[in-house]
Amino acid sequence: MSLLKKFAAATFALTMTLSLAACGGSDAPAADSNEGGDAAKTYIIATDTTFAPFEFQNESGEYVGIDIDLLAAIAEDQGFEYELQSLGFNAAVQALEAGQADGVIAGMSITDERKEKFDFSEPYFDSGVVMGIAADNEEIKGYEDLAGKKVAVKIGTEGASFADSIKDQYGFETVVFDDSSAMYMDVTVGNSAACFEDYPVLGYGITQNVALKMVTEKEQGSSYGFAVGKEKNAELLEMFNAGLANLKENGKYQEILDTYIQE
Ligand code: GLN
Repeated sequence: MSLLKKFAAATFALTMTLSLAACGGSDAPAADSNEGGDAAKTYIIATDTTFAPFEFQNESGEYVGIDIDLLAAIAEDQGFEYELQSLGFNAAVQALEAGQADGVIAGMSITDERKEKFDFSEPYFDSGVVMGIAADNEEIKGYEDLAGKKVAVKIGTEGASFADSIKDQYGFETVVFDDSSAMYMDVTVGNSAACFEDYPVLGYGITQNVALKMVTEKEQGSSYGFAVGKEKNAELLEMFNAGLANLKENGKYQEILDTYIQE
């Protein structure tokens, strides 16, 4: 090998070493920042379509509501990114179960049955199921007046489970809908005699001129929680809980509730 060639080979080898070192050097900080969680991850969070005041579209077609605002404030507080998918309640829960979503926030009641499949955050809102009937219905005073009638329910919900649990005792049949607005409509047009819905949601609907009323006391119900898959996304659940605690402390949680729920 000539002297020149030797020099060229040595230079080449040195350049390679330097550039490899440079690669290693630039990789190192990225690897560090990924420790203890995937910093760059965008979580897929599924929700309902129409469940005011927790999630609904405003006049500009944007999703707003207690759940939507809480999630946004918690993500900002904890510094994580997410993509919201408005799938409908049952579809959202199924997407979570199938691993197509990382979390669900949809006024989702924390029930023992669901705890077998999902991990829940700390409860963030207390709810309960109540019967809704048409505003001009003077016949129905209680569950016993549902005998021989149809009752509208929303698929996969606590309200539907409650209706199922009493339908044989009171002798009514259930009709199943995908979303709350279709369920309400079936009652307002007089096809179903009643529906079962979460108390704060039906209450809010009535203030927004849904032609329904409540004539019975609400049933003891579960609280709402943010859900992730069982033993999955533990870091997301931790961030949700930490953010929720911060928002409760700094007044933002109450501010969000007050935006949507007036006395
Ligand atoms: N809270 C009810 C449930 O979890 C209904 C939720 C909803 O319709 N979005 O079953």
